[in-house]
Amino acid sequence: MGIAEKEIKKFENHNCAENAVFYQAMEEVIYSIAPLLESDEKYIKYAILERLVVPDRIIKFKVTWLDDNNKIQVNTGYRVQFNNALGPYKGGLRFHPTVNEGILKFLGFEQILKNALTGLPIGGAKGGSDFDPKGKSDFEIMKFCSGFMTELHKYIGARMDVPAGDIGVGAREIGYLYGEYKKITSTYEGVMTGKPFFFGGSLMRPEATGYGAVYFTESMLEIEGKEPLTGKICTVSGAGNVALHAIEKLQQIGAIPVSCSDSKGTLHDARGLDLKLLKEIKLKRRGSLQEYVKSHSEAKYIPVDEYPQDGHPVWDIPCYAAFPCATQNELCETDAKNLITNGCVSVTEGANMPSRPEAIELFLSHKICFAPAKAANAGGVAVSEFEMSQNASMSRWSFEKVDTKLKETMQMICKRVALTAKDYGVEGNYVDGANIAGFKKVADAMIAEGI
Ligand code: GLU
Repeated sequence: MGIAEKEIKKFENHNCAENAVFYQAMEEVIYSIAPLLESDEKYIKYAILERLVVPDRIIKFKVTWLDDNNKIQVNTGYRVQFNNALGPYKGGLRFHPTVNEGILKFLGFEQILKNALTGLPIGGAKGGSDFDPKGKSDFEIMKFCSGFMTELHKYIGARMDVPAGDIGVGAREIGYLYGEYKKITSTYEGVMTGKPFFFGGSLMRPEATGYGAVYFTESMLEIEGKEPLTGKICTVSGAGNVALHAIEKLQQIGAIPVSCSDSKGTLHDARGLDLKLLKEIKLKRRGSLQEYVKSHSEAKYIPVDEYPQDGHPVWDIPCYAAFPCATQNELCETDAKNLITNGCVSVTEGANMPSRPEAIELFLSHKICFAPAKAANAGGVAVSEFEMSQNASMSRWSFEKVDTKLKETMQMICKRVALTAKDYGVEGNYVDGANIAGFKKVADAMIAEGI
């Protein structure tokens, strides 16, 4: 039995249905860091893995709120404060009916290593609720956010734990959450990031994750000696904040993004997407992608009930580069096979852990440039940290300053990941590179800080 298998065995008790995604994320990291554990015994001696896979604390609370019919509704809220070896707990809030402890543990665990890779002083956390924002009125969202913050405010602080957005939590929700925090505590501190600009948000925070994923890809393609994205067909899944801004940046650099998707279906516009219309539909009207084909009849819309039995239609569109930006485990083995057969050269994870392990296996064995989420989508949290800096010094940075720093950060992460992979004998494997570099940073801090 190798060192990775021995370590994984120790955590078998974590492997239950609710923890499936957490276990998947943990297993991947342990396999990646095996050479590090073998080359330096201190990580085993100081029981770093045992300490890292258990969150510092999980806060679970009840959220009661009144719907528009004056009926009392009850949801569960969570904050998983995972690790603060490198700085205050930092990570988003997800509002989605699938949210449970296991999903938040997976996201929080990934966040520790992602935040470490940015080189910025931020620890890892995640939170959220099983509340479903779909179909709720603006007032219902407001009332839910107030109820959520009534409890959460006790556990967060600008130097303690700084939540932000994730799926189902954008500027509107952050505004309501922050407003409630301010009302309860009477403090105007940067306790949340992703705030609207006019009351303390950073310019470019909405764009940061999507833009950052494209900057990372450009850097990776250059390092790997591949052709740049300009003029190339790109496929994107998702139609949220990350997907729309990845599409925007791709268009700005002259690439041709042709697809996106939401929970109801997939859109394929072979001439290149009309981003203005997409933003109107998804950000303003909060509508369905089906509305797009009313204005562009040449585009193809595939509703979910016409999807193939196995695989997702987005990944069956021939492309040079793919950007899964929807959600975890959205890209399966069949999708990976389709991408490879159709000549795809590069896959960049904009969402958190969108590729299943078997798909990653195939990408790596076929020498596809594969950018894992914890490195490629770190631009969002990096700009969140820039927002914390601006709030702490009561200053504001220009769009250009944030953009330049974001680009530099993504290039730095990419180079560090590529170099780490080379140093540990797995050149070109950005999964192992990211896991080793992120783990080493946190582990060394934990060792230096004692138990
Ligand atoms: N939810 C985002 C992520 O997965 C952003 C977290 C943050 O800005 O704190 O990285």
